[in-house]
Amino acid sequence: AVQARGIRKSYHGTEVLRGIDLAVRTGEVVALIGPSGSGKSTLLRVLNHLEAQDAGTVHIDGELIGYRQRGNTLRPLPDHAVRAQRSHIGFVFQQFNLFPHLTALENVVLAPVSAQRRPRAEVIAEARQLLERVGLADFADAYPRRLSGGQQQRVAIARALALKPRLILFDEPTSALDPELVGEVLAVIRDLAHGGTALVIVTHEIGFAREVADTVVFLDEGLIVEQGEAAAVLDHPEHPRTQAFLSRVR
Ligand code: ATP
Ligand code: MG
Repeated sequence: AVQARGIRKSYHGTEVLRGIDLAVRTGEVVALIGPSGSGKSTLLRVLNHLEAQDAGTVHIDGELIGYRQRGNTLRPLPDHAVRAQRSHIGFVFQQFNLFPHLTALENVVLAPVSAQRRPRAEVIAEARQLLERVGLADFADAYPRRLSGGQQQRVAIARALALKPRLILFDEPTSALDPELVGEVLAVIRDLAHGGTALVIVTHEIGFAREVADTVVFLDEGLIVEQGEAAAVLDHPEHPRTQAFLSRVR
């Protein structure tokens, strides 16, 4: 589903992604782990073109993201075309980023109607089903401030699903939650896994990664240092930097 090749990105002369190649198959669950500052969030933001890379390409289901190719040169796509591409990629942030002035249901309905131009009645019916799927059928009309962090994050996941995305990117979806609320959000993500949508999850929840991810990718200082089958990487890391990281986070 996803092919990222040779991704490089610098901020103020410091290269924070130094040539990333990442492939995610349709329906695959990838856990992206690594130390603070290693470039995990930057990589997610490049994958859906919230951030433009300095070099390299991202293809999702064969479609070049953010650019169009003319011979050997890449020309940036106009904003509306990028927005259209992005409207097929779900993004769930650490901070839930719900619109505070919209109810749970309205938060879920907004993008499919405005960005994907789908019929409102149909989207509302689907949104109710999605809220039910994340255990929030009774909270459709609640505003975010009335919801717990875990409930808000589940609305954010329903909002991502409403796009019928080929790919959902999660950036530390549970790290802003009180510990007792982490489980309910992980349970929702666990239910999505292997339902046909590719998931890329930045997480410090190593136990969750071992259980749910097919593949673990360890990023350090802007490079993929090690990747492979989840249990293999997590239980028998080969690279000393992976070993050191895992012994710190466990
Ligand atoms: P964390 O685990 O703390 O979330 P991360 O792996 O997600 O870390 P990134 O947020 O991708 O790391 O940041 C990688 C590096 O790029 C860091 O040194 C960060 O300070 C820098 N960086 C990220 N975004 C920007 C920006 N918009 N402007 C300048 N520097 C940035
Ligand atoms: Mg980050």
